[in-house]
Amino acid sequence: MDETESLTAVFQRLIGHMGPISVAHYMAEANARYYNTRDPFGEGGDFITAPEISQMFGELIGLWLADVWIRAGREEPIHYVELGPGRGTLARDALNAAKRYGLTPKVHFVETSTTLKDVQLVAVPEAQWHNDLSTIPAYGPVLFVANEFLDALPVRQMVMTEDGWRERMISVQDGRFIPVAGQMPMDAAVPESRRVAPIGTIIETCPAAAATVYEVAGRLNEQGGAALFIDYGSDALRDGSTLQAVRAHRKVDPFAGPGEADLTAHVDFATLAPIVQSRGCRWLGTVPQGRWLRALGIEARAEALSTFAPEHRGALHAAMDRLIGEGQMGALFKVFGMAAPTWPDGAGF
Ligand code: SAH
Repeated sequence: MDETESLTAVFQRLIGHMGPISVAHYMAEANARYYNTRDPFGEGGDFITAPEISQMFGELIGLWLADVWIRAGREEPIHYVELGPGRGTLARDALNAAKRYGLTPKVHFVETSTTLKDVQLVAVPEAQWHNDLSTIPAYGPVLFVANEFLDALPVRQMVMTEDGWRERMISVQDGRFIPVAGQMPMDAAVPESRRVAPIGTIIETCPAAAATVYEVAGRLNEQGGAALFIDYGSDALRDGSTLQAVRAHRKVDPFAGPGEADLTAHVDFATLAPIVQSRGCRWLGTVPQGRWLRALGIEARAEALSTFAPEHRGALHAAMDRLIGEGQMGALFKVFGMAAPTWPDGAGF
């Protein structure tokens, strides 16, 4: 494929030849192109994430990891595995904080974007890169961290029609992408408890997120360790499409300009918790980010940093408010914790 050809042109040709593609296919290809071709973070980019708002975010995650590792008996070798590390900022801040408590793990990044790998290499030169979890070493406990990773994974959508459930597909009409109902009956793919629904109802699932959490739970059972998945989403089942696109800090049409905007969907934490438990692994809870960061001591940390650098006091408190404020990231974002059966409960759950 010619890398310079726009994904819009590629999709139009594909749909023209083969018919509509699924929403999941559209989202997967769009995000692969998007992340591979740019560093999207920060004020001048498309969106900003918690670790880019303040070093306190990564530091408190590093402290959480050091605390569970110490209480589990300081086992070595120990691996730090981050999924979708972006610019590597969270890892750098977390590892700096953990080091003060004697935790210096081997560092592994699961990242598919070649552009972002280059940025991560500068932030955390000692990291090893992986395309997926399969090549993470099979010995030694693992500390998994993923911030705003699951929300970027492709979602599958089902829509209720007069003829029953259908997969939601993307077609082309007058040169524009539009969602349509697929041809194939999909009733069997919808959980029985949700099968009866008014026409037009959409339900969304994320098989890739479920597979990731399943795999992480298996690793924790086999190798020991703990995991933190932080993302925006709900801990109750809900109907409707949550697919959204963000470009230059504004919401844009997710079906226009694929590969040019960040596509995300709410993470369905209600579905992920039973997956952890079904493997015999421990689900520590799903708690609002604001509550979790407060329990970890973000207010004391902001105060300590302000005393050290009084000229930054205003900026530090503004950053903290963004991370924990109810109307900001504090309530919509959740921290989903997991631990190996033999590992202790972590702080904040
Ligand atoms: N955790 C970072 C970045 C979040 S953006 C932060 O909080 O700032 C999503 C990240 O996941 C990017 O690094 C992106 O390249 C990566 N990513 C998206 N889909 C992926 C996939 N299927 N496999 C591995 N990495 C992926």
